[in-house]
Amino acid sequence: MNQKEVIVTGGMGYIGSHTTVALQNAGYSVFILDNLSNSDIGVLDGIYRITGVRPGFKKLDCTDISGMRRVFEKHYNAVGVIHFAAHKAVGESVSNPLMYYRNNLNGLINVLDMMGTFDIPNLVFSSSATVYGQPDSLPVTEDTPLKPATSAYGQTKVMGENIIADAVRANPGIRATLLRYFNPIGAHPSGQIGERPNGVPNNLMPYICQVAAGQREYLNIFGNDYDTPDGYCVRDYLDINDLADAHVAAMRHLQSGGSGVNVYNLGTGRGQSVMQLVDAFQRATGVNIPYKITSRRAGDVSSIYANADRAARELNWRAVVPLHETLASAWRWQKKLAKSK
Ligand code: NAD
Ligand code: UDP
Repeated sequence: MNQKEVIVTGGMGYIGSHTTVALQNAGYSVFILDNLSNSDIGVLDGIYRITGVRPGFKKLDCTDISGMRRVFEKHYNAVGVIHFAAHKAVGESVSNPLMYYRNNLNGLINVLDMMGTFDIPNLVFSSSATVYGQPDSLPVTEDTPLKPATSAYGQTKVMGENIIADAVRANPGIRATLLRYFNPIGAHPSGQIGERPNGVPNNLMPYICQVAAGQREYLNIFGNDYDTPDGYCVRDYLDINDLADAHVAAMRHLQSGGSGVNVYNLGTGRGQSVMQLVDAFQRATGVNIPYKITSRRAGDVSSIYANADRAARELNWRAVVPLHETLASAWRWQKKLAKSK
């Protein structure tokens, strides 16, 4: 039994696979639980090609409590759990809310239950900037008041944070870190792992990449009449490898002691508009992105970006990868995906 093992739920997905690489590079051994509902077994080969180590893997649904018990029984010595496993499509969560509550909340409850049963002390949870809604002032700090969620997906993040707080209060043997991600983009620089959107991408970056690859004719830009400097929505886009490193920093920090629940924003601290991101992609790759301005997308906030000073202070973590490298890695991965089809 490895003394530095981390159980990673959803570790075959976009953020989980990059985090597995970062954990392995930092000397942890990783055991992945994933039901492959939004990922592919080939991800294990990508991780192996980057790190030279194949993580442990079990195909399992986190909502399956008996399956979870069998795995946690074997891995009771793990130092912690990073819980990524969740459905994440905002629109789908509005049309099928029960599927989102069932998957995202039951999975989390089972993780907490098993951590309590087998005395596994440290939890890192994937939360999201979506919990802030449209904040009254920018940038947002961790103390910025949360706004009511506008989708069932957003609700599962707010409720997930509350469930964790209650569970930790009731069992001080567990400590937890909630990571509120802003907008992760890009891929591993090796081109071995990246994001695999299912069907038509909801998110901006994979959509831009598919337009660049000629798979889609043009990008729809959702609105140019926002109350922002250039009229386009503003977000805080951070490199996926920076985000992965933050999980290693968070796990180390939990292992160093303390109690209760920590909360960190993970972003660059800089806002970019949709048009700025399109321009930066064109400059970084030399590929032209045709676009059309369409109406606003329901539920979009106009502007949000992070104050990530707390993560810098307490986790010694900062986003460091320059945007042009992130965009180049996204494009490299897109070309590889197109070839593999
Ligand atoms: P992803 O879909 O690429 O990865 C999620 C993984 O979890 C997939 O491999 C999927 O097969 C698996 N999974 C889903 N439900 C499961 C279940 N019940 N049991 C076992 N495995 C299950 O998504 P991602 O972008 O890597 O997101 C990871 C986490 O980060 C999610 O919790 C998501 O809500 C959160 N998050 C993502 C973003 C983003 O922009 N990508 C932003 C904020 C928060
Ligand atoms: N966006 C867009 N066209 C797209 C996808 C997204 O104009 O095809 C915009 C969207 O309105 C938002 C930004 O890009 O302002 C980021 O959207 P994404 O879905 O990637 O992330 P979100 O911040 O909504 O989670």
